[in-house]
Amino acid sequence: MSEKTILDVRNLSVSYITKSGLANAVQNVSLTIAEREIVGLVGESGCGKSTLAQAIMRLLGDNAMITGGSVRVNGEDVYALKGEALRQFRWSQMSMVFQSAMNVLNPVKTIESQIVDTLQAHVAISKREARERAQELFSLVRIDPKRLGSYPHELSGGMRQRVVIAMAVALEPKLIVMDEPTTALDVVVQKSILEQIKELQEQVGFAVLFISHDVHLVSSLAARVGVMYAGQLVELSPGSRAWRQAAHHPYTQGLVRAMPTLLATDEDLAGIPGSPPNLLSIPPGCPFHPRCPHARDRVDCSVARPQTQKFGDAQIACHLSPSELRGLDHAG
Ligand code: SF4
Repeated sequence: MSEKTILDVRNLSVSYITKSGLANAVQNVSLTIAEREIVGLVGESGCGKSTLAQAIMRLLGDNAMITGGSVRVNGEDVYALKGEALRQFRWSQMSMVFQSAMNVLNPVKTIESQIVDTLQAHVAISKREARERAQELFSLVRIDPKRLGSYPHELSGGMRQRVVIAMAVALEPKLIVMDEPTTALDVVVQKSILEQIKELQEQVGFAVLFISHDVHLVSSLAARVGVMYAGQLVELSPGSRAWRQAAHHPYTQGLVRAMPTLLATDEDLAGIPGSPPNLLSIPPGCPFHPRCPHARDRVDCSVARPQTQKFGDAQIACHLSPSELRGLDHAG
């Protein structure tokens, strides 16, 4: 794999301005993705993973502000881009696939006209050339080009999501951010879309940041998996290993145990006690300490924020020493 860095997020912090104060949704997160690499990001709802995705794409709402750090895509400082330059950069260098295709596609326009409009808005291309490209894109995501004349509601959920993926790939960007792209789909369609993403990624060669709440799904797809909790990146590990047997961070262990797999029985499942913290008042020290089974006899967990340490081929933000981490009961 090439070592060229496509995404370089450095010490990024994002807060939302609310009536009750600042909600710190992303705190000091650093993450890189190499050319053609797929990196997954998992965590419970509200952990900051979608905020991070929106911050990378510069799609944060007016009530959000970057309080620190930087985002570079293919060497370009995303926050230094202005107006038209940013608009062009978004499709040609980085694009995004959202969870619900229905929210992205215009219900009163055919798919073909939407793809043609998108292409013509970003590259000097005739209508006939744009139509030909739309046909190529449909073939690429295995939809019969005859369906280009359909309206979004005439396609199945899986087909609509393939259309959105085709549009994201249209200008061959270097990076595609996918935020829960398969969550609304049934398991069979989900599996075929994941295979499709992998296939396209190998053919077209883009890098992917794949966001999901399902650690098993992400680890089967991604080369590396990041785990977020209370706006912080608490673990970054290779994705290919058996996460059920080898989750490292105590929160990741809880996440893995709480997520059903095809082979797991009911007895294997166990929720994480308590709930994620309110982002307006994140606990001091390690934000996971009120829920962590290993924090009881440790003073440092509730006092000092853990630094990230190397643990084999993983990076873990936890006060436990490598030998203590090794000694933890693993899920499974
Ligand atoms: Fe648990 Fe302490 Fe590690 Fe946080 S730092 S995950 S509270 S052991």
